[in-house]
Formats: sequence, structure tokens, C-alpha cells
Amino acid sequence: MADFPLPPGSTIGILGGGQLGRMLALAAARLGFEVCILTPQSGSPAARIASGSIVAAYDHPEALAELARRADVVTFEFENVPAAALRQLGDLGAVVAPNARALAVAQDRLDEKTFLNGVGIATVAFAAIDSAADLAGAFARLGAPLLLKTRRGGYDGKGQAWVMKAADAAHAFESLGGVACIAEAPADFRREMAVIAARGREGEIAVYPLTESHHDKGILRRASAPAAAPAKLMAEAERIAATLLGSLTYVGVLGLELFERDDGRLLVNEFAPRVHNTGHWTLDGCEVDQFEQHIRAIAGWPLGPTRATHHVEMTNLIGDEVNGWRRISQEPEARLWIYAKGDARPGRKMGHVNRLSRLRDA
Ligand code: AMP
Repeated sequence: MADFPLPPGSTIGILGGGQLGRMLALAAARLGFEVCILTPQSGSPAARIASGSIVAAYDHPEALAELARRADVVTFEFENVPAAALRQLGDLGAVVAPNARALAVAQDRLDEKTFLNGVGIATVAFAAIDSAADLAGAFARLGAPLLLKTRRGGYDGKGQAWVMKAADAAHAFESLGGVACIAEAPADFRREMAVIAARGREGEIAVYPLTESHHDKGILRRASAPAAAPAKLMAEAERIAATLLGSLTYVGVLGLELFERDDGRLLVNEFAPRVHNTGHWTLDGCEVDQFEQHIRAIAGWPLGPTRATHHVEMTNLIGDEVNGWRRISQEPEARLWIYAKGDARPGRKMGHVNRLSRLRDA
């Protein structure tokens, strides 16, 4: 077993090779760590800047054994890695953070909301849906309309559909493939917000300022932070984050998607057991960004300060928007992050830009 804090020169294993892995690898390299990426994709954005990589399926037993041998701690950047792979890495003697349970809970929308409510964190009202009849019945309890989501595998607005009335239940259930679902009452939110938080190996917690997030067709377009918010709202976000991190005995960074209601209440939509797109502003707007924070947490280093140094408007560059790099590079207050993904397919997150301004209260 590795001794914590891990010294520079130790190896951090990352499951997943996308942009989040790339930015984690950059942060790890800055602190002198080696990085080994495991992903099924060859030439992935993360592997191209890591010192080592293994190209194999996430559940490939020999690949997991090799990663366990090479890495002093293993983490993940992708939510759909099988939780069983994390358990297997643990059985092989690897230190894994965040833990498999946190991942498993986050992978299933029904388990996730049930867990949140169980530890006293409010969500929208919901019902388990295993058949069209369950969905028709849910209208009696939850009202109309309902948002039907697949329990597993949905992201960026995929795998969900609004259902207006009980008579539409059969069609809606079939349109999502007839798989296990959750039906949710509308959140009736004033704003969508997010908060990034971290828990270290000693149980210490650090929470970033609130972000205001703007989605289009289920994909995050823009995030603005620190969000204008009364101290009470920030205190509530901190309470929610601390409760969740503590109850999962979590180590690492976690992203929480929130709805702010008109009455000022915060509901949790979902949490991601990893660094998160709504936290990309921290790269240029905070003393220590979410990627370094995650590396610090899993390596057993003290957590860094989360204070904002700038106000940031983060805009995702989706599809061919990344071709605007030349114009953006001429803006003095713009910080460009390009993920080197190659093919700029529609809907694909290709990069982001952080536009900085002075803090409103500075
Ligand atoms: P999700 O896949 O759960 O992150 O949802 C994607 C987006 O759908 C969210 O960012 C919201 O804009 C919207 N959404 C999700 N759940 C609800 C809900 N219960 N009521 C209203 N809008 C929702």
C-alpha cells in the first residue's frame, strides 16, 4: 500500500482518456507526478500528454492488473466506467479514489435520488418506473407533466423525455427503449447552479463558490462564477456538499448540479463523482483549480484554497465553434483550453474559453 502523502514521482492512474483526464494529467504533471491512462480509445486526448497509457476495455482483467501494478493511486474521469472495475482494482491492492460506492450510486438516477433523500438532501419528487403502467400511475402521485429519464447511461440530455399526461405513458416508455426509468416532477427552478467540492484523505472539505449554469438541449453551454448569490445560499450549498461527501466517505473532487427555486431552496439534480464541466472556470478564476484539487485530494496532500481571484464566464466550444480559436486568441481576457479531440462533430465538446473580469465585489 502506498504511503500518503504521495511524493512527486509517484504514478496516478486514470480510467478514461477524455478532456477531463487530459486536464487532470496536466495538473498532475505540474506537481511532478507520472500519469498512466487506461482507455479503450487509442490516441486519446489524455493519453497524448500522459507518461504512460494502456489501451484496453475498462473491465479487461490483465489491463486492470497492469494499472494496479503501475499506479500508486487510481482515479477516473468518466462516469460510465464499470463500478466493478474499481472493485477489482481494490481487490488487486490498488488504492482507488473516489470509491466504487460513490460511482455506483451516481450511475443510477433512482439510487442516487434515494441516497440523497436518505441523508437529508432535497431533490424533486420522483418515482421508480419499470413499466408503462408504473408511469401512468406516477401521474396520480406526482402530477403532470413528468420528466422520464433512463436510470442508467443518460448524459448531456440524452435518455430523457417530457411526458404530458398518463395517456402518453406507453409511447414515452417505449421511446426510451422500455428500460428501467425514473419519473421526476418538474423542478420549477429560477436558475440552474452547480457547486464543486472536495474531500481529502483526513476528511477535510473545501467548497468552491457557486456557479450559475446555462444549458441548451441538455448540454452545458455557459457557466458564470462566482454566481451572484446571498450568503445563505452559499451556506446551504456548503451544507449539502459536506453532507454528501461525508456520507460517501468520499476522497476527491465532486460536482453537484443544483436547482435554485423561487423560494430560495436548493434541490440537487444529480452529482458527478469527478471533476465537472461547471468547474472549468476554476482553471483561471481560483487560487487552486478543481483539477489540481482532485490530484491533491487523492494523493493525500492538503486541499488548496478555493477562493476566487476573478469573475469568469466559461463558454464551451461545441462542434465547429472550436474553429473560432483565432478570433478568441486575440481577446486579452480570454483563456483558451482546447482538448485536441480531432474531429469536430456536432454536439461534441471540443474546448472551452474562460473570459476573465474583475470580481464584482473586489
Ligand atoms: P440531467 O441529465 O439530469 O443533468 O438533466 C439535464 C437538464 O435537464 C438539466 O440541466 C435541466 O435543465 C433539465 N432537468 C433535469 N431534471 C429536471 C427536472 N426534474 N425538472 C426540470 N428540468 C430538469
